[in-house]
Amino acid sequence: MARVAWGQDYHRVMREMLERVLQRMGLTGQIQVDSGPWPEKELAVKAGLGWIGRNTLFYHWQAGSFVNLGVALLPFPADGGKNEIEKKPGSRCGQCRRCLEACPGGALTEQGLVVSRCLSAVSQRRGDITEAEARLLPPRLYGCDDCQKVCPYNREQVKKMGDWGWIDVDEVLSLSNRQFKESWGKTAAGWRGAGVIRRNARLITISQNGQKNMVYWNKKDNGG
Ligand code: SF4
Ligand code: SF4
Repeated sequence: MARVAWGQDYHRVMREMLERVLQRMGLTGQIQVDSGPWPEKELAVKAGLGWIGRNTLFYHWQAGSFVNLGVALLPFPADGGKNEIEKKPGSRCGQCRRCLEACPGGALTEQGLVVSRCLSAVSQRRGDITEAEARLLPPRLYGCDDCQKVCPYNREQVKKMGDWGWIDVDEVLSLSNRQFKESWGKTAAGWRGAGVIRRNARLITISQNGQKNMVYWNKKDNGG
């Protein structure tokens, strides 16, 4: 389970935090967390908070890439634009290519991220996935952290967070839709719905049992 989905849904947590900040400042403003028109990573760089890694993720100067971003649009102009160099992916990476080498889907290239090959995207995709994707996906239930785990800039964070979000896959498969909503609905993975998570869980059990034939996913198993 990707670290972004450990604990409470960050969308809600971040929105509440930004609302509190605006309230304390006596301001009103529009808030965006994750989905919306504003380019959060670029804005964070422009605000001087960090840089963009070769894995295309935003890195906070101290906290690395395991951070969540939110934006509050304020009713007055702010200073910015002093960090043009940090916008270029890999500006602080030097010769390092660890994330490219570690990417299981071959999604990271010198030119950037090929989203269709990213296993995080595959793990969230509704509808058909290919046999090759189904073989690559396990043991991922939701998301993929590989390009962040190997990054030297995340070493301390990875150590602090521990290395694995253990989930009982059989338990996931036994949840009713209502139970899924109650437990997973509080996490950042809940929005994807029980169908897709169950498909991923089935792929994990099949891969653990060493079954060769993974051409089993049908409309039902595929979250459709
Ligand atoms: S999340 Fe996983 S599959 Fe996607 S780019 Fe990173 S390492 Fe590759
Ligand atoms: S793993 Fe290396 S190349 Fe990738 S983002 Fe981290 S420092 Fe940059």
